[in-house]
Amino acid sequence: MIPVQRLPATERLVRLCHSRTDQIQKLGATSKAARDTWRRAEAAKSEIRALLEKMAPGVLRCMYCLDSLGTDIDHFEPLSRTPLRTFCWHNHLLACSRCNSNFKREDYPCDGETGECLLIDPSADDPADHLELLVAIGEYEAKTRKGEESIRVFGLNREDLVQGRFDAYVTSCDVLSSWHRKVRRGDLAGAAQSAAALRREPFGDVLRALEKLGRLPYAAAALGEELVESLAAWVG
Ligand SMILES: [Zn+2]
Repeated sequence: MIPVQRLPATERLVRLCHSRTDQIQKLGATSKAARDTWRRAEAAKSEIRALLEKMAPGVLRCMYCLDSLGTDIDHFEPLSRTPLRTFCWHNHLLACSRCNSNFKREDYPCDGETGECLLIDPSADDPADHLELLVAIGEYEAKTRKGEESIRVFGLNREDLVQGRFDAYVTSCDVLSSWHRKVRRGDLAGAAQSAAALRREPFGDVLRALEKLGRLPYAAAALGEELVESLAAWVG
């Protein structure tokens, strides 16, 4: 996971969401009322989707796994739990159907004492505070309880994601070296093309982890001197 910058809601979205929330309230603020209202709210959903797509990492990637296409509007706090947040803009994220329907579903773990949510919201938290990506093996390790619960609920260490991150690591190292060679020989157009392709790749968390690793004192031992030089030039 990587941070996602939430855009401000448009005036039209605010208006549509207020009126739909009023409807849920009038219907008794039950989860059935929330579900029925959500199903029919085509205009609000298309406005929400358009804004979320502008915020999505890479090419419309899922904000949780960063691998698959973000196809679903996920209610971060499930609407069955808080029906009146169904149309709250800050409760919407773009997810793939696998993360949304097979993994997260209605799960929303909270701390028993403080009530604090134990899932990482990439639009509000910095995932790096809670998760460490072991970039050369593609696995996440938890730094906090919130990280632990997020790995479990979003299925962040499922086999296909671990393999995909490892492949992205291999490819990213190759593209970074090739980008640096182009920069050094003055092929700026070619370098810009490689840089744009790298930024659009799925698994944006891998590039972010490499950038972080490149700054550490033992980077050359872990990544090799050539790649560390390329990373130093990359992060500028
Ligand atoms: Zn996903």
